[in-house]
Amino acid sequence: KNHRHEKDSETNVQVLLRCRPLSDDEQKSNVPKVVTCNENKREVTVMQTLANKQIDRVFTFDKVFGPKAQQRSIYDQAIAPIVNEVLDGFNCTVFAYGQTGTGKTYTMEGGMRTKGGDLPAEAGVIPRAVRQIFDILEAQNADYSMKVTFLELYNEEITDLLSPDENSKPMEEKQKKPINLMEDGKGCVFVRGLEEESVYSVNEIYTLLERGASKRRTAETLLNKRSSRSHSVFTITVYVKETVIGDEELIKCGKLNLVDLAGSENILRSGAREGRAREAGEINKSLLTLGRVINALVEHSPHVPYRDSKLTRILRDSLGGKTKTCIIATISPSTYCLEETLSTLDYASRAK
Ligand code: ADP
Ligand code: MG
Repeated sequence: KNHRHEKDSETNVQVLLRCRPLSDDEQKSNVPKVVTCNENKREVTVMQTLANKQIDRVFTFDKVFGPKAQQRSIYDQAIAPIVNEVLDGFNCTVFAYGQTGTGKTYTMEGGMRTKGGDLPAEAGVIPRAVRQIFDILEAQNADYSMKVTFLELYNEEITDLLSPDENSKPMEEKQKKPINLMEDGKGCVFVRGLEEESVYSVNEIYTLLERGASKRRTAETLLNKRSSRSHSVFTITVYVKETVIGDEELIKCGKLNLVDLAGSENILRSGAREGRAREAGEINKSLLTLGRVINALVEHSPHVPYRDSKLTRILRDSLGGKTKTCIIATISPSTYCLEETLSTLDYASRAK
């Protein structure tokens, strides 16, 4: 049943683990730490006390980043190689997965504004990827174009984070533009009705990003807990004109999806009671399905359930096959998060 062979087992799914530091408040109130990271051995140890006995559980990942790890080192070690694949014409996806409050958004977005062209040290994966893509294409003197989309998925409904502010539009256009997933004849899925912005500079993308991120935060204050239950998907599609042979013009196209997933709290428990929990809005179909899709991919299963959720349909052409996938699982070192930390570590281990 398990088709893993030597060469074959080189799946294109990479799993990284990042443990955030204790916050200032947690430090002040002396919250006990139950997680230790060994970056060299790529190991995470969780100390658990059961019936007065201390039991250590050890997990191994492709890479481990402890509380002191800088945004830059995560990017350089784990994400930069993926961005190079995108520029070679492949579709790739980076996910941040973990309990709410463990640093998914910090890892993906971090601080975005540039100071006189330089990225701040807290800049996360998205601004760094954008910068790298532009830097490489400019250095190659490439003939290129680029499009970005930024969407939010909440309760299996898509919101466009880049659509212009509703209030600034004339009355007749205020009606919400429907956003649908469409399938072309070849089984490719695309999102219809989504704002697709052509971008020509790093700063232009940063402006879009900030617009999208602040739209997401506004939605959050309007609806409590929304951001912890929604996924955001930022996608850059790069078209590079290759050398022209005769009349033929070759365009190389690569896509990078950067996904800040909904909080993973309760995911394992909710899986068992899908029916009822869904009505209560507790269940996250896309998050559950993503786990199943990734398991199917790493096990080389003949059936990959892409169609079972919107997130996996949107990302279908960027998951599996020749694509590269990176999951950054985020955890807190605090004893109060122990149960969710173990759940995240279990989930992330199964994805390898
Ligand atoms: P999530 O998106 O998973 O809910 P956030 O990214 O919002 O979590 O992080 C929660 C808080 O912890 C934020 O204030 C964030 O700045 C801080 N934080 C998270 N990860 C780190 C880190 N590695 N270093 C410093 N601060 C962090
Ligand atoms: Mg977040």
